[in-house]
Amino acid sequence: MYLALAETGCCTLPLGKSEDPDSVIDLVTRFDANVLLVMPSNLGPVITRLEETGRRLESIRLAVTDGEPLYPSDEARFRKSLEDATVFRSVFQTSDTGTIGYQCGSCGPGEFHLHEELQLAELVDVDADGTGQLITTNLERHLTPVVRQRTGDLARALRQPCPCGDTAPRIRLADGPARSSSSEGRSSR
Ligand SMILES: [Zn+2]
Repeated sequence: MYLALAETGCCTLPLGKSEDPDSVIDLVTRFDANVLLVMPSNLGPVITRLEETGRRLESIRLAVTDGEPLYPSDEARFRKSLEDATVFRSVFQTSDTGTIGYQCGSCGPGEFHLHEELQLAELVDVDADGTGQLITTNLERHLTPVVRQRTGDLARALRQPCPCGDTAPRIRLADGPARSSSSEGRSSR
C-alpha cells in the first residue's frame, strides 16, 4: 500500500494502531494531513480522544476505510470530530485475493465497483433474490495467483448502471455471515 501511495507523490504518515491517540492527533495536525486510510476500529480510539479533548481534525477531507465495514452510526460519530464535509469511502479487499472493490460517490453502504483489471468475480450458489457466494480470481498476483477463491462474503450483482458513469460492474455485499464458512479466504472490508 505504501509503495503504491509513493507512486502518487503524496506524503504518507505510516501511523499504526500502536501509536497512542495523542501522537496520531499531533502528527495529523502538524503535517496538515488531508486523507485518512484507516480501519474503523483503529480510528475509534483517536475519535474518543478528540471527543475527550474537544478537538477536531479539520484538515481531513477524505477518510477511506478498509478491513471491516463502516457502519453509518460510526460514520456519523467520526464526522463530528473531523470536518463537516469529510467524505467517507471504503475499499473492499481480502488479504488473500487483494483489492476487489472501491466506492464511488454514488455507492451506498456495502456497494462497490469491482476492479475488473485485477479481479474476475463470480457468484455461486445464487439464491432466488440473486445473492450468492463471492468468488474471485486474481491472476495479477504473479507469485501467488488466486484462482476461484471464496472470499467468505455473500453478495449480489447490481445490474443498473451506476449514476457516476463508471461502467465497472458493481456488487452489494449482504449483511451477516456467509451461509457456509470458508477457510480459504477471510474477508476484510
Ligand atoms: Zn459509481
